[in-house]
Amino acid sequence: MEISILGSAGSEAPGLNPPAFLIDNFLLLDAGTVALTLDKIAQCRLTHVFLTHAHLDHLKGIPFLLDNLVAMNPTCHILVLSGKEVISDIRKHIFNNRIWPDFTAIPDVQNPVMRYQVISTRKPVVIGDYRIMATRVNHTVPAYGYLVEHASGASLLYTGDTGPTEAIWKRMRGHNVKALIVEVSFPNELISHALATGHLCPSLLEAEIRKMPSIPAKIYVSHLKPPYRPQIAAELARIPGVCLELLKEGKTFRIQ
Ligand SMILES: [Zn+2]
Ligand SMILES: [Zn+2]
Repeated sequence: MEISILGSAGSEAPGLNPPAFLIDNFLLLDAGTVALTLDKIAQCRLTHVFLTHAHLDHLKGIPFLLDNLVAMNPTCHILVLSGKEVISDIRKHIFNNRIWPDFTAIPDVQNPVMRYQVISTRKPVVIGDYRIMATRVNHTVPAYGYLVEHASGASLLYTGDTGPTEAIWKRMRGHNVKALIVEVSFPNELISHALATGHLCPSLLEAEIRKMPSIPAKIYVSHLKPPYRPQIAAELARIPGVCLELLKEGKTFRIQ
């Protein structure tokens, strides 16, 4: 699997974009940044968008992507997948013909540019050689992390936004998780704010790592709030025994 980082910050700043991870050119995990970084052909190649939750920084690329797809080519369309609360929220509060058009009826209901699919935490979504499993995480709104497995055996685990959590680490058991993308939003001095808002700081991540049944070869850290980036980076570097890598927009990595 090839994973391209379209965005991995916990907000916006010049050169730092909200989270979106593109897998093998067709599957997006979160959609905080899409058309700002993908050209027309790459936008049309997208077919599946898995949302971790309905916070704006994780979905704000979708409205503009849809606008572009409709204008570009009638064969380009996407399926947006997530848990039922997330799909319900974006249907009600974003694509409601007030904030943005209901693209499940554009250009027409028979052949819309966007469809929704509600997914369960008990049954994987199978797309060709890929198997995607959702697991609830601990955030201020209903939120899911995703385990993406390829038939080759390699798998990626993405937590999305979460505070201290349990189920997603248990989900690692029996799967060959080669890479983990985990969030750290705040520095250690803001630990109580991190806990109150369903996020991690470096000391909380250290405790989460101890819960993992095995440590993935690569742990990538995302969702840093831009003003705290240097402080968080320094604190992450002091966590013993693991090599953590900060994700950066424009980076691509492979797992196999
Ligand atoms: Zn969030
Ligand atoms: Zn977020």
